[in-house]
Amino acid sequence: MTVLLEVKELQKYFSPPMLRAVDGVSFTVRKGETLGIVGESGCGKSTLGRVILRLLDPSGGQIFYNGKNITGLNSRQMLPYRKKMQIVFQDPAGALNPKLTIGRALGETLRVHRLAEGRKEVEEKVVSLLSLVGMGSEHLDRYPHQFSGGQRQRIVLARALAVQPELMVCDEPVSALDVSIQAQIMNLLAELQETLGLSYIFIAHNLSVVKHISDRIAVMYLGKIVELADKQSLFQNPRHPYTQALLSAVPVADPQLRRKRIILSGEVPSPLNPPSGCRFRTRCPHAFDRCAREEPILRQTASNHQTACHLGSGPT
Ligand code: SF4
Ligand code: MG
Repeated sequence: MTVLLEVKELQKYFSPPMLRAVDGVSFTVRKGETLGIVGESGCGKSTLGRVILRLLDPSGGQIFYNGKNITGLNSRQMLPYRKKMQIVFQDPAGALNPKLTIGRALGETLRVHRLAEGRKEVEEKVVSLLSLVGMGSEHLDRYPHQFSGGQRQRIVLARALAVQPELMVCDEPVSALDVSIQAQIMNLLAELQETLGLSYIFIAHNLSVVKHISDRIAVMYLGKIVELADKQSLFQNPRHPYTQALLSAVPVADPQLRRKRIILSGEVPSPLNPPSGCRFRTRCPHAFDRCAREEPILRQTASNHQTACHLGSGPT
């Protein structure tokens, strides 16, 4: 599959004081695939999503879109890429202007981007956008507060799709919704991907959410990717102790496949003052001396599987 997005050693530091929110992250996203990014709150995953879209400037590293280095582009040069890459956030209420009917909100997006002109064409396109997300034209004259959370997230998706993006960064798009509605939105995202050939970066704080939709999954801890693998490999054979702990919390129907729950001790340390060596060592049940001295790098541990851990990596 063709690579659509590549990030190399991406960094985002906030200062003062020095907070390394994203600290040397590399991965690719291929056309039509979903990369899940998972980690506890504060691990840098949302910052990463914003840096990729250049909503925040990176402090270091590079971003390539379709082979083109977009890291240093100014906002005018970024315009065509802003259409190709869209972001959808957790809170669909805050993303919509409460004073505009959704017909007008979607129509305005189409007009601003010159994707439709004249009342009739705009209305037709708005109606087809709504139908893409499973909503009928009877909703055109209603305001955001008149919709449920799930419907609002559909509208936000329709607006993102208006500009015909290729890559969507979905930052916890279902976390604020009821469980039954979450499944509907996840199914819709999967359908849209299929129909439109979209690529997704899907950000979530637990593995259950990204399980079905992802092709590959990156696990983040304190600004770094600690494991990156094909979904199947990650679920069947997690090698990083942090991934193992996250996975042990995922509910499994089949009792034979159930894992013993691994409870991590302590809290995630402050990113202002991460532990030396392996950042996970203060909570790792397998930590040994080398872990405090030396930072593990992400290395190939199986085909389509990379892990950043000293366990099993041979002597120093
Ligand atoms: Fe645990 Fe050491 Fe591996 Fe870090 S490098 S995850 S502390 S065993
Ligand atoms: Mg977040």
